[in-house]
Amino acid sequence: MAVLEREAPTPEPEAPAPAGPTPDQALAELKAGNDAFLRGENNLGYVKVDDLEPLQGGQNPIATIVGCADSRTPPTILFNQGFGRLFSIRVAGNTVDRRGLASIVYAVKHLNCPLVVVMGHTGCGAVAAAEAIVDGVMPLDPSLEEMIVPIIPAVLEARRSDATDMAVRAVELNAQRVADKLRVADASLADALEAGTLKVVAAVKQMHSGEVKFLG
Ligand SMILES: [Zn+2]
Repeated sequence: MAVLEREAPTPEPEAPAPAGPTPDQALAELKAGNDAFLRGENNLGYVKVDDLEPLQGGQNPIATIVGCADSRTPPTILFNQGFGRLFSIRVAGNTVDRRGLASIVYAVKHLNCPLVVVMGHTGCGAVAAAEAIVDGVMPLDPSLEEMIVPIIPAVLEARRSDATDMAVRAVELNAQRVADKLRVADASLADALEAGTLKVVAAVKQMHSGEVKFLG
């Protein structure tokens, strides 16, 4: 008697789409990307138009970078990340206004971005301008007010510190202050931080070497 074939098992319900990186995994990917860039092993020379094809359905960037508009600080190159990887908001002095905040909330809430990096850089002209205002060596140009004024608290805090390099300290404090403010700027960001699905960190790109140092 033929053995009855067993009925094929009912297929498992389709697994959900693979989850993106955790905040710590995304941070590790950025650090690895910057290391590759510093070693001269970046792969962006191979980025091509075909890379856009799998991204036509949407994007899930691994990090949102709040960076300076400075032409020497492009996040994609410094972190060795191609299309679809970094959601960038760049304003001279890497501060965040209401539109910048809305962009960050969009990335976290709707693109499931697990990491926000506020990245200043040494030799920042916007921070230097804020220092010049604080030191009284330059009048505040009304046209530049929106760029400079948000940086002034970091410069004042640097001046009160015992840092040996006031300019570098102001850059670090500016990045840290912006990160600190972002953590409490919107309920959805605060909720994601609380749930452990988001990290907000500050970093400084070294102008000369291209190294990105993450601040503790
Ligand atoms: Zn700058």
